[in-house]
Amino acid sequence: MTIHSPLSANTRHAFGLSAENEALTELSAWREYPRVQQPTWPDEQKLGDVFDRLRSAPPLVFAGEVDLVRSRLAAASRGEAFLLQGGDCAETFQDSTADRIKNKIQTILQMAAILTYSASTPVIKMGRMAGQFAKPRSSDEETRDGVTLPSYRGDAVNGYEFTPEARIPDPERLWRMYTTAASSLNLMRAFTGGGFADLRQVHDWNRGFVRSKGYTKYERLADEIGQALQFMEACGVDFEPLKLVELYASHEALLLDYEEALARVDSRTGEIYACSGHFLWIGERTRQLDGAHVDFLRKVRNPIGVKLGPTATSDDAKRLIDLLNPEREEGRLTFVTRMGASTIRERLPKLLEEVKADGAPITWVTDPMHGNTITSSNGYKTRRFEDIMDEVRGFFESHQEAGTIPGGLHMELTGDDVTEVLGGAGELDEEGLTRRYETLVDPRLNHTQSLELAFLVGEMLQR
Ligand code: PEP
Ligand code: MN
Repeated sequence: MTIHSPLSANTRHAFGLSAENEALTELSAWREYPRVQQPTWPDEQKLGDVFDRLRSAPPLVFAGEVDLVRSRLAAASRGEAFLLQGGDCAETFQDSTADRIKNKIQTILQMAAILTYSASTPVIKMGRMAGQFAKPRSSDEETRDGVTLPSYRGDAVNGYEFTPEARIPDPERLWRMYTTAASSLNLMRAFTGGGFADLRQVHDWNRGFVRSKGYTKYERLADEIGQALQFMEACGVDFEPLKLVELYASHEALLLDYEEALARVDSRTGEIYACSGHFLWIGERTRQLDGAHVDFLRKVRNPIGVKLGPTATSDDAKRLIDLLNPEREEGRLTFVTRMGASTIRERLPKLLEEVKADGAPITWVTDPMHGNTITSSNGYKTRRFEDIMDEVRGFFESHQEAGTIPGGLHMELTGDDVTEVLGGAGELDEEGLTRRYETLVDPRLNHTQSLELAFLVGEMLQR
C-alpha cells in the first residue's frame, strides 16, 4: 500500500483551522487506504498546485440540486420514476463541442420521451457527461508492434496518442477536466432551460427516425406519442413549463485527487458534497470494501452508485450497503448491475432476493453494456445490440422473479452516427465497424441504435 502525502502544505495551512476544514481534512483519509487505478503523477508539486486551484474554484454543481437528484432516485427505488443515464464511455476534451453535446442531449431527451410515454412514469434524465474523463484500465500497459507504453487512462490523466510523451500523466489535465466539465454543464443547462427540450420538438425528431429505413416497426408507438401530444394540446395543456427539463451530470468517481479538490461543505447543513457532478459512481474495479474509493464516497452526501459485476456476492452488496448507506436512506445508493446477457438470469435473481432480505432501499439499475463486450473478427472492441437487449430483458425478468423494482438504464451512447456496436435494425455488420469507429475506449450505441433501444424497452414497459 502506498501512502502519499495528503494536501499540499499551503492548502493545509489555508484550510487547517475551521470546523469546515476539519470536515474536509477528514475527507482526505482515503489516502491511507489501498487504492487502485490511480495514476502515478510524476510531479507532486504540480499536482499540489492544481489541487489548490481546484480547491478554490467554484463548485460545478450545488448541494440543493444534488439533494433533488437523491429524492428523484428515491422515487425510482419505489417504482415511481425510472432513471435513464447515458453518454460516452470516455468523454474527450476534443469532442466536448457544442454539436456533439447537443446531439447527446437530444438523444437522451428523445429516449426519455419514449420511455416516459411507455411506462407512464417520470424519467430521470442523466448524462454520463461533464466529468466522464477518466478510465480504469484492465492493464497498466499497452503494447503495439512490440512497443510497450503506459495505458491511456482518459483525457483527465494522459494523452491517447501512442507516444511515450503523451502517455505521461499530467496533473494540468485535471484543471482542463474541470474547465471542460464547466463548459459542458453550461451547455446542458442552457439547452434544457431554453426551449430546446420542448416535448413537441423532441417528438418531431423521433418521427424523422421512424421514417428512416428499417425503423418503421416503431411507427405505432411514435404515432401514439404524437396523438397523446395532440390530445394534450387540444385540452389546452400549457407546454411552456414542460420546456424545462432536469438533466443531471454523472461520472465515475475515479480520480480521488480531483474529487477531493472539488468537495465543498454545504453552508446550510455543514455536510460535505462532491461538487464535480450530481451523481457519482464507483466502478467494478474500485469497489473494494476496504479501499480508498469506498472510504471517500462514504463521506459525501451525493447519491452514489456502485457497479456490480458477475462476481459480486450478496455479502459484498450488503457490506457495501452498511458502509455507504448505514442510515438506509432512500435514493442514497444505486446498484448498477452489469452481469452479461449470458449470466444475468442465473445471478441477478438470487442477488436481488438476498439483498431484499436486508431491507435496505436500493435503486437497481441495469448497465447492459459492460458485461457484453467482445472483439470482432476484424479486431474491433464491440458489442452486439441483441446481447444488450437480452441483458435488459433479463434485468426486467430477474426483478419480476425476485419481486424487486427495476429502476433504470445505464447506457454507453452517443448522439452521432458512429459505427461501434453490431446489429440493430440498421444491421451493422463487422465490415460496417470500419466506417466510423471513433470511441477511444468502449463502443457506444449510435443515435439510431439508442432510439431503437428506447422503443424496445418502451414496448417492454407497456406490457
Ligand atoms: C464504465 O462504466 O465505463 C466502466 C469501466 O464500467 P465498469 O466499472 O462496470 O467496468
Ligand atoms: Mn465503458
